[in-house]
Amino acid sequence: SNGHYDVIVVGGGAIGASIAYELVQKGMRVALIEKHQPASGASGAAGGMLAASSEHFAAPELYELALQSRALYSQLSEQLHELTGINIGLRTEGFLLPIHHQQDMDWESRQRRISEAQAKGMEWWDNERLATEEPNVRAEDGMLYNPAEPQLVPSLLTEAYVAAFIRLGGTLHSDQEVIRLLREPNGRGLVHGVITEHGILYADQVVLASGLGTSRLLAAEGLRLPFLPVKGELMEIRTPIPWLHHTIYSDTIYIIPKHPHRIWVGATSKPGQHSTIVEAGAVVELLMRAQRYVPILTKGELVRCWAGIRPGTPDELPYIGPVRELQGLWVAAGHYRNGILLSAGTAKLMTEAITTGKDTFIPHAFRPERALYQLSSA
Ligand code: FAD
Repeated sequence: SNGHYDVIVVGGGAIGASIAYELVQKGMRVALIEKHQPASGASGAAGGMLAASSEHFAAPELYELALQSRALYSQLSEQLHELTGINIGLRTEGFLLPIHHQQDMDWESRQRRISEAQAKGMEWWDNERLATEEPNVRAEDGMLYNPAEPQLVPSLLTEAYVAAFIRLGGTLHSDQEVIRLLREPNGRGLVHGVITEHGILYADQVVLASGLGTSRLLAAEGLRLPFLPVKGELMEIRTPIPWLHHTIYSDTIYIIPKHPHRIWVGATSKPGQHSTIVEAGAVVELLMRAQRYVPILTKGELVRCWAGIRPGTPDELPYIGPVRELQGLWVAAGHYRNGILLSAGTAKLMTEAITTGKDTFIPHAFRPERALYQLSSA
């Protein structure tokens, strides 16, 4: 390409990379521009749970997108492997969900919670069943088993999206920050490219999938779109043999077995924090919570700890759709704590809208205009 693309996608996280991959599959000329390296933002720090039926979503539309998205990963995993040789680490053993006797949960409401879960396709595993399936797991009297939730390695997913995108003819510009959008001098709102540290790139459409960096790019155009950063810390423990097969998913902690003989324990939740240092106290907090379910974890080797910032929004719904004020501009950002899960479904939505020019099927709950307003100074 001579520096003119059909679409420029800004941001090489799971969201931008999945959109770029989906768009080249439709035969579009696409450039993906990333400030650092793919997966260097939230997408490289995530736990990788595809928890469509375990999470609580802020709107039914998001739950629906989560379910649709989750259904795409087994095929996607094969496709990406075929195209790139990268194995995204998809594991389908399912999740175990602890249920506690809390002060506010009497026996009856607990039974109701279990029945509701069973109606959604989950099973009740009593301690005997648990002892056979997961001898290292401790529970009060059992756990719910959800066979439908998979998990994967987010950095590998993101790298595989990017590698597949390049393989299909897409252009990656990494280590290149987008400074501003390029706007037609006369046509007031028309966006027709981006200005990077190294020059200008032209495109008919621009997608901002730049995570928490999205608000800055919009602010430069006189638009305000609010985000809420929520820091999370995780740690990785190496075990001599596999100590765990299923992901343990509770309100306060998750414990995720990864190949080979690794277990990820996460995550803290610290709203408003922008730094990605790991506080020493996070290690204590995570281990205290995790050893309640898997006591043997404390005997494993602590291999690494890391932190990332979840791109949250005030209403906990993502921004997906066109920016009305600037023709040719789209946003796909703010996927908070489920952006890995939602990446495949978001790419389908965005690609459908961009290739057909019709966005009517994007749910209103996701539209950026619900939160976007013009700064008076612009
Ligand atoms: P990012 O991955 O942050 O990507 C945005 C990219 O844009 C970055 O790479 C950045 O460098 C680039 N960028 C920004 N500004 C510019 C610019 N001006 N020019 C060029 N490039 C730019 N989700 C799940 O589904 N399951 C989980 O188990 C899970 N666990 C999580 C645990 C933690 C601790 C954290 C932090 C998140 C977790 N998430 C999980 C959420 C998930 O990580 C995010 O929702 C998702 O990664 C968001 O993807 P993104 O592409 O929008 O953002």
